[in-house]
Amino acid sequence: MFPSLPFSFILIPMNKTNICREAEQYWGFDIRDLDTSVRPTDDFFHYASGGWIKKNPIPATEAMWGSFSVLRQDNRKKLKAIVEEVSSSKKSPKAGSEEQMVRDLYTTGMDTAKRDRDGVVPILPILQKVSEIKKPEDIIPLTSYLHKLGFGGLFGFFIDQDERHNDKNIIYLSQGGLSLPDRDYYLKDDEDSKRVRTEYRKHIMAMFKLSGKTPKDSAIMLEAIMLIETELAKASMTQVELRDIEKQYNKRTIEKLAKEAPGADWQKYFRLVGISKTGELIVNQPVFMKRVGVIIGEISLDEWKAYFTWHVLSGSANFLGKLFVNEHFKFYSTILAGVKKQRPEWEKVVNFIDGTIGEALGKLYVKKHFNHEAKKKINELVDNLFSAYREHIEKVDWMTLKTKKLALKKLSAFRRKLGYPDKWKGYKGLVLRPDSYVENYFRVHAFEWKRGIAKLKKKPDLKEWHMTPPTVNAYFNPVMNEIVFPAGVMQPPFFDAEADDAVNYGAIGSVIGHEITHGFDDQGRQFDSTGNFKNWWTDEDKKKFEEKAKVIENQFNNYIAIDGIKVNGALTLGENIADLGGLTIAFTAFKKSQKGKSREILNGFTPEQRFFLGYAMTEREQIRPELLKKIIVTDPHSPPIFRVNGPLSNMPEFYEAWGVKEGDKLYRKAKERAKIW
Ligand SMILES: [Zn+2]
Repeated sequence: MFPSLPFSFILIPMNKTNICREAEQYWGFDIRDLDTSVRPTDDFFHYASGGWIKKNPIPATEAMWGSFSVLRQDNRKKLKAIVEEVSSSKKSPKAGSEEQMVRDLYTTGMDTAKRDRDGVVPILPILQKVSEIKKPEDIIPLTSYLHKLGFGGLFGFFIDQDERHNDKNIIYLSQGGLSLPDRDYYLKDDEDSKRVRTEYRKHIMAMFKLSGKTPKDSAIMLEAIMLIETELAKASMTQVELRDIEKQYNKRTIEKLAKEAPGADWQKYFRLVGISKTGELIVNQPVFMKRVGVIIGEISLDEWKAYFTWHVLSGSANFLGKLFVNEHFKFYSTILAGVKKQRPEWEKVVNFIDGTIGEALGKLYVKKHFNHEAKKKINELVDNLFSAYREHIEKVDWMTLKTKKLALKKLSAFRRKLGYPDKWKGYKGLVLRPDSYVENYFRVHAFEWKRGIAKLKKKPDLKEWHMTPPTVNAYFNPVMNEIVFPAGVMQPPFFDAEADDAVNYGAIGSVIGHEITHGFDDQGRQFDSTGNFKNWWTDEDKKKFEEKAKVIENQFNNYIAIDGIKVNGALTLGENIADLGGLTIAFTAFKKSQKGKSREILNGFTPEQRFFLGYAMTEREQIRPELLKKIIVTDPHSPPIFRVNGPLSNMPEFYEAWGVKEGDKLYRKAKERAKIW
């Protein structure tokens, strides 16, 4: 995945007459975004984007701001126009049509007066269910009931392709049940973890107060929540352990699971969520599931009631009235991410529609905004990237011929999806009403839950998408061996048909290369050409790959992100490999595309220099300190500055283009530079 991507609105062709006058030619990069007081060979991130950063402080409603966020904001406005058109049309849409669904979600979401009036009333029946548990055996049925409505709690469950037999779907059980972003927040004793825990406790008290509980009851419930979540945190894998696919692939029969993790009636859970017959399943964290079984019996029923009450309240807060929304925002956005001000309601509701019936909205978005010309050109770029990749694999000197052959086989087997799905998911049977926002939220979840369960009886759908069309992002899916680029990312500054080739290769070219490289990073390389998790590497090649990856891990371990806190090289390894690989391959593809063309200088920059400016432009992003601290713990992507300076300091192509010499801050000795592909 590639969540930290970027854009500059100055680059849309409309403004091009204002920029780059010296060159009298628009080439896709605004030189006013540079900070020429910084030497490019010391800190390319700030050289390329320092000017932009000074002119574009993070808006109060955002936790980060950069090319990626600007384009997302721009897309949200397009979605808003669509949603408002559908919602304000005098003609009532046909019941059951996607227009009707969009309208009902939007109008119930925007009716804040009604949401305020309703208070907790819409969730009372659910809270009632929680209060009715009478014995430990009731906890599993309650969990299944809450999961179906979209609440987290106790553990995670989903259905997806079997990683070793990807022609089948299978049940997965995984760790879960926490309200803070990671186990570390419960277990670590550094200043920031302690600060977050203190604020979390205050937040729980405030939410209970809003829901009508006395301070005395709330205080008792608070301790129960902390107790249970801390128990679950202790049994959870760390973020780095979660990158180990082998460790998490534990196939079990239901009988074996029952033996290993007694205390929870798993069969009953599956039956209640709608699975009549459970064959095999995959238990991602057997230790965690065992612990769940144990604590069900050890922890008192009153404590469990407190825990589930909290999950219902916190999970629905954003859909209730403003007192709940404000308190939820204060903790999750201000304390955890540093955001100063809430987004306007329409933005939140549009995000929600995109996140729930996103293909219904996406279909309307594509009709209005999809650029078919861009798709054609990007398709060509993808071809060029693949052919450059082939050359690189053929040329690597550390891999045996045997493994190389299989790597090339995998490369030729990659599938690609561009723009939007060939086959839309559809929402037939989903009943939404103009009555209540939070109830519509439950209805959508119950509907998607059923869709998920039905997968168990079907073959994996090769046409399915895991991002909606307006999403400004891209992904690689190892079990499908596919790269996917939604319409949202096929726009400036990632791709601009009017921009210079160098900038496009540096921008979208690097993104495409990044996604392909995920197929050959420390995780992706463990899947073969058919998308199955299966070792196709000789021991010798595996060892060499790991040594090479270690160089990148060590490099990033030394970067200080904030307040002396270092980047986690092991957690970010896959993304860092993908950044370096993506840039390297995109550079080769760019050079190939320029054969026979004139070497034009624009604004004093060579084509090679412009390639790197294009890359830095897409990675342009500023982050609030609070969010940065959270990212360091939970995000497999490195902070933006290191996503630029890190890979570039490994690339001889960059040294040559910008004249990096010993003594420059980005200089690394030749033997210390990382290179895999
Ligand atoms: Zn990625």
